[in-house]
Amino acid sequence: PDRVFSGVQPTGSLHLGNYLGALKKFAALQHEHECLFCIVDLHALTMPQEHGKLAGQTRHIAAAFLAAGVQPDKALVYAQSAIPAHTELAWYFNCVARMGWVQRMTQFKDKSGKNAEAASVGLFTYPALMAADILAYKATHVPVGDDQKQHLELARDIAAKFNHDFGEPAGEPNFFPLPEPLIDGPGARVMSLRDGTKKMSKSDPSDASRINLTDDPDTIAKKIRKAKTDTGSVPGSVEELAGRPEIANLVGIYSALSDTTDAEVLAQHAGSQFGPFKNALADVTVEAMRPVSDLMRRYLADPDELDRIMSRSADAARAISEPVMVDVRRIIGIHGSA
Ligand code: ATP
Ligand code: MG
Repeated sequence: PDRVFSGVQPTGSLHLGNYLGALKKFAALQHEHECLFCIVDLHALTMPQEHGKLAGQTRHIAAAFLAAGVQPDKALVYAQSAIPAHTELAWYFNCVARMGWVQRMTQFKDKSGKNAEAASVGLFTYPALMAADILAYKATHVPVGDDQKQHLELARDIAAKFNHDFGEPAGEPNFFPLPEPLIDGPGARVMSLRDGTKKMSKSDPSDASRINLTDDPDTIAKKIRKAKTDTGSVPGSVEELAGRPEIANLVGIYSALSDTTDAEVLAQHAGSQFGPFKNALADVTVEAMRPVSDLMRRYLADPDELDRIMSRSADAARAISEPVMVDVRRIIGIHGSA
């Protein structure tokens, strides 16, 4: 990939799913590719936020990126709101995307719940802003968890329609690249500890449903011991995990954190009762998360340093997006842009 973009919302508390599905993978990508890691604070506004918390939350996510191993001299870590291109391009994309495309998005249905009439308009047009996040830098690859795949497909549709509607007449039919997902490997979809059919989420009201990056070892162990399981025991093969989402999830967490495979974890624990298996998993989780939460605490203790890193990154991000936006305005035909 030549340019990687990914965003994390500064909502709620980062969890194991974010770490395995996103942060840990980001840190690995920075060595091979140009990477932009954005804290998408404007996306957070699509849902009600506690007054006065947004800036602190944004720093919290920046600290988590760095704690997970993202290096500020290798990759950019900055707030979405610092770069005006996101909102400008989102408007153009709102006018490119079709109602029918956006109405199919399952995240809107999940997050608006039973009362879609009361949801913000921003929550509905969220995918247009996400497309803008990516394409303002002409990013070619987007590492996302499974849950964002549908939005990424919409971003490709938007890029293709923009290219067709504006690029072709301007003689630039391939103006935007069609961004591709980088979703793979272990941890792409970590499920809730309370319900094996729901993904682990920051916005889940139940704190027991997730392991937070800031949970202390006792809390981690307690949550894992209380995790929902069925009435069986640990099976011996991957095939036998089918139809057993809770134990499949715990095995998946185990293998992702210990850099091994599900088959290997099962070989090691086949026939075990859930009690001892959960104790082993709790140990693995506590050990894997300890360095991350220690480093995160150290970054959070120095907000000035965090702000310096974010502001340097934002300058570099702006230097990439500004020329793209000059071209966008020109090929749309905005007054004064020729
Ligand atoms: P929210 O509930 O507010 O949407 P979230 O937990 O879904 O929060 P996001 O900020 O939407 O977190 O996503 C951040 C990144 O983490 C994205 O790349 C997303 O794909 C990934 N991610 C989120 N949840 C999981 C999960 N359960 N398993 C693996 N990856 C995940
Ligand atoms: Mg999400």
